[in-house]
Amino acid sequence: MNRLQLLRPAARVRLTSRAVRAVRPYITTHAKIESPGTTKMFVDNMPVESAATTWIDLHDPATNNLVTRVPQSTPAELTAAVDAAARAFASWRKTTVLTRQQIMFRFVQLIRRDWDRLAACITLEQGKTLEDARGDVLRGLQVAETACGVTSQLTGELLEVAADMETRSYREPLGVVAAICPFNFPAMIPLWCIPPAIVTGNTIVLKPSERDPGAALILAELAAEAGVPPGVVNVVHGAAPTVDFLLDEPRIRAISFVGSDTAGAYIYARGTANGKRVQANLGAKNHAIVLPDCDKDAALNAIVGAAFGAAGQRCMALSVVVAVGEAAGWVPELVERARALKVSGGFEPGADLGPVVSPAAKARIEGLIASAAAEGATIALDGRGYVVPEYPHGNFVGPTVLTGVRPGMQCYEREIFGPVLGVVAAPSLDDAIALVNANRYGNGAAIFTQSGAAAARFQRDIEAGQVGINVPIPVPLPMFSFTGNKASILGDLNFYGKAGLHFYTQLKTVTALWRPAAPAARTASTAMPTHQ
Ligand code: NAD
Repeated sequence: MNRLQLLRPAARVRLTSRAVRAVRPYITTHAKIESPGTTKMFVDNMPVESAATTWIDLHDPATNNLVTRVPQSTPAELTAAVDAAARAFASWRKTTVLTRQQIMFRFVQLIRRDWDRLAACITLEQGKTLEDARGDVLRGLQVAETACGVTSQLTGELLEVAADMETRSYREPLGVVAAICPFNFPAMIPLWCIPPAIVTGNTIVLKPSERDPGAALILAELAAEAGVPPGVVNVVHGAAPTVDFLLDEPRIRAISFVGSDTAGAYIYARGTANGKRVQANLGAKNHAIVLPDCDKDAALNAIVGAAFGAAGQRCMALSVVVAVGEAAGWVPELVERARALKVSGGFEPGADLGPVVSPAAKARIEGLIASAAAEGATIALDGRGYVVPEYPHGNFVGPTVLTGVRPGMQCYEREIFGPVLGVVAAPSLDDAIALVNANRYGNGAAIFTQSGAAAARFQRDIEAGQVGINVPIPVPLPMFSFTGNKASILGDLNFYGKAGLHFYTQLKTVTALWRPAAPAARTASTAMPTHQ
């Protein structure tokens, strides 16, 4: 009996049947779930019930009602998932790129078909608004769509290097790869990994965040329905023990990680020490420089949307405004626009932001707001203790604006990851650029101006890896790569785009000699060939 047979499949039915198209119930309200179920793993194209002894309760952030229980997958279950991926790799790597491309086309169609279902699952488990959750799915879907173009992105090179001798170079898959995902984009980040990994011929074991694994499970189910063979896409669960398992499992060749600095530094160090390729996207502190010559209305609206959307739980959220000169006087208008946002359950029509992910996150964010006041900043708009009458038990933090923020304060140095915007005043563009560059992070930075010359200087001198000019969240679409830098990234190859394909592949060169019938040399030569 192999290890997989030791697992308990939740349902052995054809994947195209309605019965299995429900690794997650399709729920579109925050109403209490009478009998919350368990979250399954997904191995060999089957949902698998865990025999875990440790379970992690997952609550709806809007109500703190129990939604599901997520297993800490057991060592045997984790090994079985890697077994499945390793078995599948033997044949998956031999499929043609055209076959894999056709499956990717179907995967894209199925994600579009189940777009609302994925979004609803994200809103229920993660808390963001339904409209924002649809955006989460879309930005991942676009990675899958771009992966369909692999046929023109993965062509190799060939050169005649000597008479009758050619060298060709091309990229081959690595083998079994793993992805470790954060809570804030439950569909997008798994989709940063699954399409480029499998379209290039790898198989994958993915660990979603234990706080919202539902979307990743739906995606695995859709991959199976699209025709991905058993074992190519697998989902396991848990917290640090699962991560340690993936980092130490010798058959896993590469690790994609997105999440916080602490976990990322640990994963990068342990993964690379074990000889694995690791790409790790970490935390951020994204600044927007506002020049007084900008289109004020457009800039203030863009900043409010980018600071408070998703309750500030985006790695590219704008968390600091650097107001240059008289732009510092616009704070009252900024505050009014922030105050006007509707905070409510993510399923509520018209909600602009939902709750933060957990009571612990709420407490941490409120603690950092308190620290700002204690360290000399002014709380111009205070979102602490925010109550949404319909959801009195939710983890709500209202939009918060801090003024008089300075480097060195905790609210400036730490990633708050909540709906909190700090305002720093700067006398000139040069001072503003110097301030942004002195920050250790380098994910994103934006400028709002109507001056081409100022924008050009900003673009050249700013050290952030993703630069927006009158664009508040300049995340590149997947024909480019996600290009954070400085302390926002560890590893050399970025997520998605050409770099993403390179991360999941290794170069092979083949040098071949096909000489027409000619007399063989009578003696062996021991000198280096000169290829002339
Ligand atoms: P997190 O680091 O807490 O968790 C991410 C993953 O790591 C999860 O799967 C979790 O189970 C695992 N993990 C957590 N602690 C661990 C530990 N001690 N040992 C081993 N594994 C551990 O991050 P999060 O709170 O889920 O996500 C928010 C963070 O992710 C923010 O810092 C945000 O900036 C960052 N993020 C970055 C990007 C980017 O592209 N730069 C994108 C999204 C999120």
